[in-house]
Amino acid sequence: MNARAPKGTADMLPDEAGAWEHMQRTAQRLFARYGYEPVYTPIFEHTEVFTRGIGEATDIVSKEMYTFQDKGGRSITLRPEGTASVVRATLEHNLGANGQAVKLYYAGPMFRYERPQKGRMRQFWQIGVEAIGMAEPSIDAEVIVMLMRYFEELGIPRSSMRLLINSMGDEACRPAYRDKIAAYIRANSAALCEECNRRAGTNPLRAFDCKNPTCKDVMSSAPLLRDELCDDCAAHYSAVKRLLGDRAIAYAEDPSLVRGLDYYTRTVFEVQVDAGLGSQNAIGGGGRYDRLMEQYGGPPTPGLGFALGFERTLMALQAAGIAILGLPVAEVYVARVDSSLGAAVFALVQELRDAGIATETDHQARSLKSQFKQADRLGARAVVVVGPDELAAGEVTVRDMTTKDESRVPLGELSERLKRLLG
Ligand code: AMP
Repeated sequence: MNARAPKGTADMLPDEAGAWEHMQRTAQRLFARYGYEPVYTPIFEHTEVFTRGIGEATDIVSKEMYTFQDKGGRSITLRPEGTASVVRATLEHNLGANGQAVKLYYAGPMFRYERPQKGRMRQFWQIGVEAIGMAEPSIDAEVIVMLMRYFEELGIPRSSMRLLINSMGDEACRPAYRDKIAAYIRANSAALCEECNRRAGTNPLRAFDCKNPTCKDVMSSAPLLRDELCDDCAAHYSAVKRLLGDRAIAYAEDPSLVRGLDYYTRTVFEVQVDAGLGSQNAIGGGGRYDRLMEQYGGPPTPGLGFALGFERTLMALQAAGIAILGLPVAEVYVARVDSSLGAAVFALVQELRDAGIATETDHQARSLKSQFKQADRLGARAVVVVGPDELAAGEVTVRDMTTKDESRVPLGELSERLKRLLG
C-alpha cells in the first residue's frame, strides 16, 4: 500500500489545523457583524451544478474537476469552489423568496485537478461568502471592505496587500466586447500561444490570464472592457470605487483582471500579497454574478461573493512574521508524585477542566521528572503537584512555570488561584 497522501493534498497537522480553526473563528465573528450566517452544502454535487454555473469553457470545468459516476450511474463532482453550491442551495430552499436578501458564509475543502506547486493544491481550503438578492453597488463595496478587514484582523499588514478591481460588464456590453477580443486574438494569432488561439472560439477573455510572456505582451495592447462598459455598468463601477474611497480602502484598477469563471458580471476583485507566495500570489478574490441564479432555472437574482484560500493566507501570514496559534491544550499540568494517587488526580483534572481551564495529566505512569518535562513540552503555565502528604492536608503544590515560584494551595481555592495565575 502507498501510505502517503495523494499528490496535491496535504494533511493538516495540529499547528496548521489550529490556524485553520482560528481563521474560521475570526471569520465567524467578523462576518456575523456584517450580517452573514453559516451554511454547509455537500462536498459533492451533481456535475451540472458546476458545468452550468461555472461554464463549460472555463479551465475549472474543462480540465480540473474531480468527476466520477456514483454507483447509481449519476455524474458527481467534488466541488471545485463554493459559489455554485451556495446559489444552488439558496434556490432549492427558496431562501431568497420575495426578494429577501441572503447573506451566507461557508468554510471547507475544495478540489481542483491542477498542477501542484507552491500555493496550488488539488485539495485546498476556502472560506467564502455569498450576498444574494442585492443589486446596489453598496453591497459590492461592503463585501470588499469586509474581505480586507478580515485579512487585517488576521494580522496581514494593509501595506503588504494589493486590492485589484475591475468591471466585467454585463449582458448589455460584454458580448460585443468578447467578440472584439476574439477578433483581436485572431488578428494576432501568429504571436499568441495555441491555447490563446483556441480561447478565441471558447472563452476569449481568458487570454488576459495567460502566463506566457509573449501573450501577456500582446494582450497588454488589447482593447479594454473599461472603455466599452454600458452606461449602467459604468455607473455601478464608479459608485463602487467612490464607496471604497470613502472607507479609505486603497485599490488599483486592473482592466485585465478577468477571473476564471464564466458567471462573473460587473465588479470583480482580487487581493494579492507581495511576499511569500511566488506566482500564486492571490489570497482571495470574488465578484458579482447577477445571472447565475437564472442558470439554475431560478428568477433573475443579483449576487456576489468572495472566496479566500487558507493555505495561501497562512503563507502570507508567515511571510509577515505572524504566528497563528490554535487553542492552548494544556494551560495547567497536573502531576502526581506516585501512581497510587490516580483517582484523586483524575477527579482534580476533571474539576479544573469543568472550571474552564485547559488541563493535561499523565496516563502513562511516568516519573515526576518526566511529567515536568511533558508539562514543559506542552507549554503549561503552571504545574499542580499532587503528593500524599499535601493531599491528606487538603492541599496541593502549584508551581508557576514562568517565575518558578511554588506555593501550597488549598484544594477549594485551586481553580481560582490558577485562573489568576493564567491571567
Ligand atoms: P478562486 O475560487 O479561484 O477565485 O480562488 C479563491 C482563492 O482560493 C484564491 O485566491 C486562493 O487563495 C485560493 N485557491 C484557489 N485555487 C487554489 C489552489 N489550487 N490551491 C490553493 N489555493 C487555491
